[in-house]
Amino acid sequence: MNKTAVYPGSFDPVTLGHLDLIKRATRIYGRVIVAVANNSTKSSWFSVEERLEMLKEATRGMDGVEVELFEGLVVDYARANNIHVIIRGLRMISDFEYEFQMALTNRRLAEDIETVFLMPSEKYSFLSSTLIKEVAMLNADISSFVPDSVVMRVNKKVSKLK
Ligand code: ADP
Repeated sequence: MNKTAVYPGSFDPVTLGHLDLIKRATRIYGRVIVAVANNSTKSSWFSVEERLEMLKEATRGMDGVEVELFEGLVVDYARANNIHVIIRGLRMISDFEYEFQMALTNRRLAEDIETVFLMPSEKYSFLSSTLIKEVAMLNADISSFVPDSVVMRVNKKVSKLK
């Protein structure tokens, strides 16, 4: 059995919710590749290099976790790396519609690849990168939402944007 899964996303920036999911995924799949999307259609606060760096820092010391950059379709990335499982997170019912559409689209594109949904601990089920950026802009303390190494980077970005 292939024990590798890919967890794709924007991670703009990585949150404690993402990390919770990565930990859960490694318990099932031994090797988890966190794939950071270099996605030009989505406007992000952080460059793909910064997002990659933040994830590498945040997952340092976590066994079986690798962080990579990818461009284009997740299914193409998975195929090229002989991976048959895509991990996605489901926080709320509101995630469901989009995630369901994407999973079925990916299935149509690649029948041999399954999307597996994991739920975070309920204490992270409201967290999103977008929300964190919004409250950070309003000077909220975000230290209970993102890893320590990310707090400073977000605050720096906020002062640049203001
Ligand atoms: P994308 O732009 O691809 O949605 P994100 O970085 O926002 O990338 O999210 C990547 C994946 O992680 C998505 O499946 C999303 O639902 C999931 N996710 C994001 N935040 C959380 C969280 N707090 N708990 C669990 N899953 C999450």
